[in-house]
Amino acid sequence: MILSHTQLGSYLRCPRSYRYRYLDGWREKETRAAMVFGRCFEKALTALFRQEDPGATLSREWSVFREASLEYKKGESWDRLMHQGVHLLERFVRENRIRIRAPQYDLQVKMIRDLQAGHEFVAYLDAIGELDGQRCIIDWKTTASRYPEDPDGLLSLDPQLICYSWISGIPEVALVVFVRKDPPEIQYLKATISEEKRREFGRLVETTAAQIASAEFPAHSGIRFPQNACVSCAHLGLCLNNQQLIAANLIRNPGACSLDWLDELVD
Ligand code: SF4
Repeated sequence: MILSHTQLGSYLRCPRSYRYRYLDGWREKETRAAMVFGRCFEKALTALFRQEDPGATLSREWSVFREASLEYKKGESWDRLMHQGVHLLERFVRENRIRIRAPQYDLQVKMIRDLQAGHEFVAYLDAIGELDGQRCIIDWKTTASRYPEDPDGLLSLDPQLICYSWISGIPEVALVVFVRKDPPEIQYLKATISEEKRREFGRLVETTAAQIASAEFPAHSGIRFPQNACVSCAHLGLCLNNQQLIAANLIRNPGACSLDWLDELVD
């Protein structure tokens, strides 16, 4: 079994949802414009560090979806997202706080760690570089609203960053958050992941891999705050046997797929 952070998170949220997605092949339809745009924007960042034209890359990638039937939230449109993306790229270049010294090796860095019982864990780190001169793991995010920064140290609890620190052995991590608002803003959030947190995460990975391997998929259902996982779950239609919801939200690739860990690349 090859496990990724996305799969681990899915199992921990609700093992039944994990089974639907990774064993039965029910994937969520990708119709959210902001998510699709985020992927195009990350390609533009890659182009920037490779000394290519990031604006042209963003325009080319995002133009593919100009006529696609994507879901835009209130206030969003194809043009508006494009406009915000260009402004964020200009601001990022002006602020000049990130260095990627060897873009051919340090972007989309694949890391693999062997687990017990012959399983493997795989992760793709967005980048390994420097923020204000300090070497760290870097994760890009595009969002419509700012990430919370208080209380101090909050970011050190982010499971994705803990995962990346665990698999790479690098304690310093940073989230570069591109906030699509007017005027645009970029947050540079830093944290240090302790050795203890990395060890604890390693134990969590091993325990979870063993549970998945023993085919334990109990439902962790919840519809009332704060245990309201079902309300935003793409698999709700399956649990309610509601054909309309299934057709609206899901698409099925029959059977498990050995390349499902590639989800890691699109999150
Ligand atoms: S709807 Fe609820 S119980 Fe069903 S898979 Fe989703 S989170 Fe789990």
